Amino acid sequence: MTEIALGESLEQARARLARALDAAGRPASGARLLAVSKTKPASMLRDAWHHGQRAFGENYLQEALDKQQALTDLDDIEWHFIGPLQSNKTRAVAEHFAWMHSIEREKIARRLSEQRPAHLPPLNVCLQVNVSREPSKSGVAPEDTLALARAVATLPGLALRGLMAIPAPATNITEQRVSFAALQALLRELQEALPEAPLDTLSMGMSDDLEAAVMEGATLVRLGSAIFGARPAKPEGTT
Ligand SMILES: *Cc1c(COP(=O)(O)O)cnc(C)c1O
Repeated sequence: MTEIALGESLEQARARLARALDAAGRPASGARLLAVSKTKPASMLRDAWHHGQRAFGENYLQEALDKQQALTDLDDIEWHFIGPLQSNKTRAVAEHFAWMHSIEREKIARRLSEQRPAHLPPLNVCLQVNVSREPSKSGVAPEDTLALARAVATLPGLALRGLMAIPAPATNITEQRVSFAALQALLRELQEALPEAPLDTLSMGMSDDLEAAVMEGATLVRLGSAIFGARPAKPEGTT
């Protein structure tokens, strides 16, 4: 994709988000765009940055660290880790990211908190919820989310910001909204149970279901292919 085309697709993504917020009767500032740049080269992120994009989401740790190295000259860039994370790789996330969206176990959270450098603000985290209850999919079960939230909220190196989900694909917007509404209801429960926690984030909505997510209160939408174009199939052995 050329630089001009990337600028156009970013503009279209922003316009799409603005339309969705308007249709939902929400303020234009109600949701932010996270550009999901996995598998895309650092040069494309640089182009997006020059077109005003600041928040980038990455799934694969080593790939993300390589891009961060290549882009250290870009001010204000905000890195979000959104993929599965093994417990032996928490340190790099604690040291090099502003956000982590995919907390599903207390052990990972505890390590991230311990390893967060003291000179940085707390790492913003979301709990990933397996909202569609798909067997062998990432995320904490809905009924276990409050207990995990209580544990995470006590960790000094973390700021518990909210919930993230990747619902099972649905065929129409009505069906898509069911899962997102469930996540929104779960966030409300957490807000009531943990009034001290800075719970203000619903990380939900991707290229195929942004409108449904915004209808149900998404505050951070994660767009990949709609901004950067289609991705190659996942290489063997990665998650
Ligand atoms: C890849 C990915 C996205 C973006 O998906 P698109 O369909 O390309 O918009 C969003 N969230 C997560 C967790 C992802 O892994």
